[in-house]
Amino acid sequence: MAQSERQSRRRFIYECAVLIAGGMVGGLGCNSRSASRTGSSPLSAGAETPNAGFRPAYLALHERGELKRRADALWERMERCNLCPRECGVNRLAGERGQCRATSDLIVSSYHPHFGEEDELVGRGGSGTIFFCGCASRCVFCINWEISQTSDCPVIHVARLAEMMLELQQMGCANINVVTPTHFAPHILRALDIAAARGLRLPLVYNTCGWERLDVLAQLDGVVDIYLPDHKWGDAAAGLKYSGLRDYPDTTQRALLEMHRQVGVAKPSADGLIRRGLMIRHLVMPNRVANTRAVLKWIAENLPRDTYVNLMSQYRPTYRAHEYPEINRRLTRAEYAEALDWAQEFGLTNVREQPMPWF
Ligand code: SF4
Repeated sequence: MAQSERQSRRRFIYECAVLIAGGMVGGLGCNSRSASRTGSSPLSAGAETPNAGFRPAYLALHERGELKRRADALWERMERCNLCPRECGVNRLAGERGQCRATSDLIVSSYHPHFGEEDELVGRGGSGTIFFCGCASRCVFCINWEISQTSDCPVIHVARLAEMMLELQQMGCANINVVTPTHFAPHILRALDIAAARGLRLPLVYNTCGWERLDVLAQLDGVVDIYLPDHKWGDAAAGLKYSGLRDYPDTTQRALLEMHRQVGVAKPSADGLIRRGLMIRHLVMPNRVANTRAVLKWIAENLPRDTYVNLMSQYRPTYRAHEYPEINRRLTRAEYAEALDWAQEFGLTNVREQPMPWF
């Protein structure tokens, strides 16, 4: 397929996602209006949201100009990019591309209310997800590989990203959920600053692979309301082999401690929605390759026992998983039950169990 054809196909899928999203919310009777999809329509905070009375963390920083300063500080780092632990050192501002496949051009695959996230993030209106293209990880089983392993996505301006955030709020979403955000953290903070000035009041969910730098997380202190990191690997060798990430457990565990320091344990409000805190995801893998036992033990020994842990059973072999026979199948019921037993053994009290619908 020619590049122009691929781009127009992606553009078509992207526009469909937006339209479907609007339809889904409307169909569920939430606060959707037919918001303009163009880049210049003013959107106000007038729509009712499930977060009435909630004050997101970033608002105080925005009001005293600190959010813009943080965004600018992150932006400068793209000159010798070290936004993530890969530390490529490329000049993204001059158009060089990092290992995440990103230049400084902002590339977004889609944005829409997402009803497949954790219940506490979904509510009635869905989680307002924004999917960025490119990724610093190289997970051989990535279900989003078509967007994570490419830079062939629509380029948008930061002001358009701010519009997307406001549209998601207008649709009645419970939060703004930035997926694989770190290589575009400077853009996200600039957009957030614009959107906050125009009435954005939703919690910000930072949905990451967990492999983060502490000095970048420091810039997000007081910006992010909910950290939603993976803790994928209990062994460094597995992190390198299946995700291409060096020192995954050490780097991620330091990051999780910092995230917890910033936002604390995730507790649902009276309406069941979580608006602040740390929510960890762990994907149980076939043949114990993720070393789930080590992951759960570390969480139990280093974070409060009531730390939110989503123990995911949904693994399915996609992308290049067929090249690795040990992960080229679904999880068995026994493997998932074993993981749940470990969580219980280590005294974790806030573990979300997933159904295994294929049995
Ligand atoms: S964000 Fe991208 S360019 Fe920057 S260090 Fe990470 S992989 Fe490299």
